[in-house]
Amino acid sequence: MDIQARIKRLARQYRDLVDVIDLPNKTQGYRRNAAGYLGDPAVAALVVESVRFGDQNMNGVQVRTVDPGRANRPLTVGYRDRVLTVSLATDTAGKTVSTTDEVAAAINARQPDRFRAIVEDGSAGLPMPVAGPTRLDDGLQGTEVPARPWTVQALRLGVHRDGSRVGVLAYSQEHAREWATPLVTLEFAERMLANARTDPATRELLEQVDIFVIPMVNPDGANYSFNDFNFQRKNLVNHCTGAARDPKNRTSWGVDINRNYTVGSYFDGYVGASANCLSGTYAGTSELSEAESGNVIALAQDHPNIKFAMNVHSYGGYFMWPPGAYRADGRVTLPRPSIDESTLFLNSARRIVGAIAQERGTVTWPSQTGPVADVLYSAAGNSADQLYYELGIFAWDFEVGNDRWNPATNQWEGVGFQPPFDEAHGESQEYAGGLVEMVRVARDYAAAESAG
Ligand SMILES: [Zn+2]
Repeated sequence: MDIQARIKRLARQYRDLVDVIDLPNKTQGYRRNAAGYLGDPAVAALVVESVRFGDQNMNGVQVRTVDPGRANRPLTVGYRDRVLTVSLATDTAGKTVSTTDEVAAAINARQPDRFRAIVEDGSAGLPMPVAGPTRLDDGLQGTEVPARPWTVQALRLGVHRDGSRVGVLAYSQEHAREWATPLVTLEFAERMLANARTDPATRELLEQVDIFVIPMVNPDGANYSFNDFNFQRKNLVNHCTGAARDPKNRTSWGVDINRNYTVGSYFDGYVGASANCLSGTYAGTSELSEAESGNVIALAQDHPNIKFAMNVHSYGGYFMWPPGAYRADGRVTLPRPSIDESTLFLNSARRIVGAIAQERGTVTWPSQTGPVADVLYSAAGNSADQLYYELGIFAWDFEVGNDRWNPATNQWEGVGFQPPFDEAHGESQEYAGGLVEMVRVARDYAAAESAG
């Protein structure tokens, strides 16, 4: 896709300044189990789905129930020529007598490697009708998207890409629908590289700082957001069980990557994530259960020179840092940074906000600048908290896309997750400027440390 192509192009164009890093965990891919309704959901029905993904030769498989046409027959299940046939049990008069639950149990018992059957809400215990054939389908609309597991990539920029220089990490699109965010991080990378050829000050920054950029942390969710459901926030891994796997819930499945980290997590009793697999802030089955969150941490762990990080989200014009979560019990936050570190967070924030404002005068309100838990909400298990508390990285969060003043309505208005091109372009320019300032902050920090 587009972002992968841009990464490749930058690496080719600026060979001497760029490495591409393949992150260790492949994602699930843009894939789903093939599913369908057997029966009429308004009367009595099962959801039948393939155990494998639809693209693994399961799309188009058919499922049906049949009347054997004879008395005293048992319930049987057979699979031949890509058709799953359930022959319903009959009584002495030859009438079919199997219930929905019996049919679901029979499918699960006889074909556990191929199929899963779930009784629809409201259909429990009802007579199973003669139905189908139903074609199972994964429901994915994106025809141009490869279905295989995806390798998430990072760019590494700098003259000395050997860990000898202070490192900076910018990463974006943990949340699939935040389309402007990879534009910000890619613009940042491209600007550093392009300017390095003509601007000695930029060249000097790339001499002093080792820059890491993950433009698209959550590619599967992004593909789903582009092709199927533009409001998709989470990844594409469906951990739901039972009736929650009904395809009517398809736009609510997935894990919130920015709630799946280990520090101040839902699993530790912190507020702002959910155990409900259909929630927008579902934390996953355990800390770091997802490939995507593991990739961010693996990159930071593999490069201990990284001292600064920016987690780029949208929208609303926030600039935040730890603590990002508090406990349900007494609203006790994660530990506050020391006075020295708080000063560094705040002074750096002023510089970065100033750089953002230089592009088109965008103001970030002081009330939207500060610790996440104070200015926005508690976000249990977010990535910035793990980078800061576990790895000692000064970790910030941007919510790019500040409100715009509308003179026609005399009001500030939100820009949304998928702003029109002009606005998205404006955001990418100004927040890329903010990231360049973060690089300068890192350079100055390293200089002060070595002068120390
Ligand atoms: Zn977000």
